[in-house]
Amino acid sequence: MTAPHFVLDPDGWCRGAQRYDSPHADARPDGTAVTLLVVHNISLPAGQFGTPHVSDLFTGRLDYNADPAFADLRGLRVSSHFLVRRDGRVIQYVSGDARAWHAGQSVFQGRPACNDFSIGIELEGTDTLPFAPAQYEALAALTLALQQRYPLTDVQGHQHIAPGRKTDPGPLFSWQKYIEIWGRLLKEKAAGQVGLVPAYRQLRFPVGVPESQPKN
Ligand SMILES: [Zn+2]
Repeated sequence: MTAPHFVLDPDGWCRGAQRYDSPHADARPDGTAVTLLVVHNISLPAGQFGTPHVSDLFTGRLDYNADPAFADLRGLRVSSHFLVRRDGRVIQYVSGDARAWHAGQSVFQGRPACNDFSIGIELEGTDTLPFAPAQYEALAALTLALQQRYPLTDVQGHQHIAPGRKTDPGPLFSWQKYIEIWGRLLKEKAAGQVGLVPAYRQLRFPVGVPESQPKN
């Protein structure tokens, strides 16, 4: 499978992604480096894919009457930087330079308010269904593109930075598969660019994930 090609432009918008601007975003605190990538899952209604409702929610246009379950979402102002559809297509709502509202109350290594210093990537899915191969490919390719623009040091699931409150991306998200594809793409990218790999390889994944670094 050929990985999709993503490049972050100097304004933090990604070439290769479809752009829907969200008003649910603001500036990061001055001087805050973007060091964390947060992986999520979402679908609206839960378990239904290919609907416009996630994009509508993130851009403040959700029709709350479209489904009985949406009543609970009324007034919720949330967003994410990216959504990866089941077929691997990527939508971007917020520039990586800006703060998207995806993590909520959260802590990473003692540091609260993860939205300040993170990028959020939503995978279209649920905690109870496996993710599509195209989603892993797109997520891994997007990770590398983001590494080229931001000094990312860590990847976490929403469940790791908001334990007890959030469960996504959930037990059926294969960190192993994500790491393997990321490692493969890293090697391919590094083939013509000496010096690229050492810095990028230092990306850390959640503790407890076996073989969290690609093999040489
Ligand atoms: Zn989440």
